Amino acid sequence: MRTIQSLFHGGIYLPSEKALTLDAPVQAIADPQFIFIPMRQHKGAPAVPCVQPGELVLQGQPIGRADGEESVAAHSPVSGKVCAIDDIRLPDGTHSLAAVIESDRRNEAVEHINVPHDPAEVSEANFAERFAGWGLVQMSCRGMPLHRRLQIARDNQVHTIVVNAMESEPYLTADHRLTVEQTLLVALGLAHLCRLIGADRGIVAVDHRRREEAELLDRLLVEHGEALGLTLGAECLDHLYPQGHELMLLKTLFDEEVPVRLDDGAGGLASDRAGVCVLGVGTVAAAADAMLFNRPLTHRVVTVSGEAVRKPGNFLAPVGTRVFDLLALCDVESEYDRLVVGGPMTGVAQPDDQSVLTKQTSGLVLFGTALVHQPGPCIRCGWCVEDCPVGINPALLADLAESGQWRRGSRFHAETCIECNICSYVCPSRLPVMERICKLKRALEREEDDGASGRVGEGATRRT
Ligand code: SF4
Ligand code: SF4
Repeated sequence: MRTIQSLFHGGIYLPSEKALTLDAPVQAIADPQFIFIPMRQHKGAPAVPCVQPGELVLQGQPIGRADGEESVAAHSPVSGKVCAIDDIRLPDGTHSLAAVIESDRRNEAVEHINVPHDPAEVSEANFAERFAGWGLVQMSCRGMPLHRRLQIARDNQVHTIVVNAMESEPYLTADHRLTVEQTLLVALGLAHLCRLIGADRGIVAVDHRRREEAELLDRLLVEHGEALGLTLGAECLDHLYPQGHELMLLKTLFDEEVPVRLDDGAGGLASDRAGVCVLGVGTVAAAADAMLFNRPLTHRVVTVSGEAVRKPGNFLAPVGTRVFDLLALCDVESEYDRLVVGGPMTGVAQPDDQSVLTKQTSGLVLFGTALVHQPGPCIRCGWCVEDCPVGINPALLADLAESGQWRRGSRFHAETCIECNICSYVCPSRLPVMERICKLKRALEREEDDGASGRVGEGATRRT
């Protein structure tokens, strides 16, 4: 199987740091005593709690109902008693209502789940309702309800689904282990999702350093694809970061360039313009699990790794597990310096270990050494410009952000930044370049929202 070289501008080769957990099989963790299931784990409307404190619940029972079309149900991953409906902090720093459940450690499940289920019962006509009922969402940072993502793809007559199994971030191996251990599930999931949206082609993109994984996957995909009249297969891609980003996958696989703005205002997504729908490998496996075993999305694979973790690993954990409950299983050094939810490039540094795992939590990375760098002045070395994968000028945009010149940021395409963090990573002056660009982007978005609601001119921005 050949390696497809990356075609996008810029990019960097990151140290892998994956050896710590690459060969660590996924271990299911024992249920923690308390689980905090957020009602908001996706874009759109949060679920609405449908249980009361004191109520007994079974594993897989809905505890939050979907609130409209842009929403999905939330389920209990354990059997036990609802203790409270409370406000909690999510890893991204926002807040959500959550059902707090005390596990009885019996894991009694509701009837008819975790049993073989005919995936053919899920059809074009009913997949939206079924997927929302199973609580399926995109299990990456964007987290759109899966049925909405698929509906948009159908409406745009998408012909290909690309499954992203690149896992470009250092340390993380959850997707790799899932693909190795659940290869058939991924292949079947892709085949059925293609069927549901009317796509006739499916490709799983795998890091070329995992060639064996890609070859096994390719064999299964070809076999199951042929049976359904679909062209399915795996491709090995160069690991130039951020090759795993949706737009970089489009460029490398199809030599297609689409506008970076993901929402085009007409209900479509950028990748749909190229006839492609990109989904994460975890999302595809969760959809297959639901269609083949009537299993709602209640658990996910999470990597715990980093220099401050003495027993790193990959864990199948209930969604809603507190971070410190998972860290307690990994013999973490008490004096670690930094805890990041997600990967070190795009993850979110946490103020403490009190947050919970959501459907989008791919990993916890702990760094042992204090990395205190005082930012210096920009020395105009141009490294950030050279390596930026979308070809914008990060140094200039960071300057505009610092001087409050938001509107000029738009002229220099700030909104096309995909927040890969390469500019901060390569900067020899240790400037928080991406952080500054994000500040500028949020200011532009606020201005756009104010404009749309007729509140332009309330003094949120400076005239430049
Ligand atoms: S974070 Fe944005 S500006 Fe910085 S390198 Fe990535 S895409 Fe370019
Ligand atoms: S990498 Fe840092 S120092 Fe170099 S041009 Fe960019 S912001 Fe300036």
